[in-house]
Amino acid sequence: MDIKNGFVDAVGNTPLIRINSFSEETGCEILGKADFLNPGGSVKDRAALYIIKDAEEKGLLKPGGTVVEGTAGNTGIGLAHICNAKGYKCLIFIPDTQSQEKIDALKTLGAEVRTVPAVPYKDPNNYVKLSGRIASQMENAIWANQFDNLANRRAHYETTGPEIWEQTNGKIDAWVTSTGTGGTFAGVSMFLKDQNPAIKTILADPMGSGLYSYVKTGEITTEGSSITEGIGNSRVTANMEGVPVDDAIRIDDTEAVRVVYQLLRKDGLFMGGSTGINVAAAVALAKQMGQGHTIVTLLCDGGSRYQSRLFNQEWLASKGLSPD
Ligand code: PMP
Repeated sequence: MDIKNGFVDAVGNTPLIRINSFSEETGCEILGKADFLNPGGSVKDRAALYIIKDAEEKGLLKPGGTVVEGTAGNTGIGLAHICNAKGYKCLIFIPDTQSQEKIDALKTLGAEVRTVPAVPYKDPNNYVKLSGRIASQMENAIWANQFDNLANRRAHYETTGPEIWEQTNGKIDAWVTSTGTGGTFAGVSMFLKDQNPAIKTILADPMGSGLYSYVKTGEITTEGSSITEGIGNSRVTANMEGVPVDDAIRIDDTEAVRVVYQLLRKDGLFMGGSTGINVAAAVALAKQMGQGHTIVTLLCDGGSRYQSRLFNQEWLASKGLSPD
């Protein structure tokens, strides 16, 4: 018998999927870690689970307690599922730039959702800072603090990284993915480098994020903007500190959207925008490295979370973008 003990036990152990169309085009094996198949629908289920388990083990979260977080959506969705499964309450602060689908999902899951104006991190009313402040004023509540809580990258060092290593039999030349908190990139990169330092760890970055310039020059500068959600940053989070990064690749929305629609039409994979950035970066890397390499990237979440945006032709056209 192979039975998972509830939602929590079903997190992780996702398949590694060969992306046939791009593998054939590039002559490399382009492999996607299918984290959209987590039970809460995104890679963030892993971090949400580790953060809650860590707080329980430290005695910070007690029965009936509340988990508070600032999130672009997916971490909140993961936390809300786990809170229901474990009997906690969930309070989520989300910037008003995120898709309605994610906000609706959070409400359906029973989380209390506070939509707040999207202001920069340095502003005290930034959604992350606000969530921390409110959590500190509440009784029996924890602040998940995904950006700087190292339980986040530990989830990926202990689960995602080892899964990729086993699924490829260690035959992997490069790992490339974008970062929100950086937990996924960091945990997987650190694990893979510990197994074989020759594996390249490459950061993929959307326009409007400062990490590409940080990797290239040591300075955080931003240029342009992106329709992708949940990725990009203008600071180095605690989860990203001390992480081995060999190089960075920047992908614009035109290319990310083209890739998302090719994944949909040629590979049957219905993915969100950050996955477009990731696979586009894997393709760019394949061209740099040359044929015959194995490149692993992350399939973060599914496209149904972006039906009203990325997959709505009018909305897409209003951003000057098209599928072709
Ligand atoms: N893609 C999406 C859609 C996300 O929501 C996130 C997390 N915000 C990421 C990618 C990046 O994951 P991480 O926080 O581990 O860097």
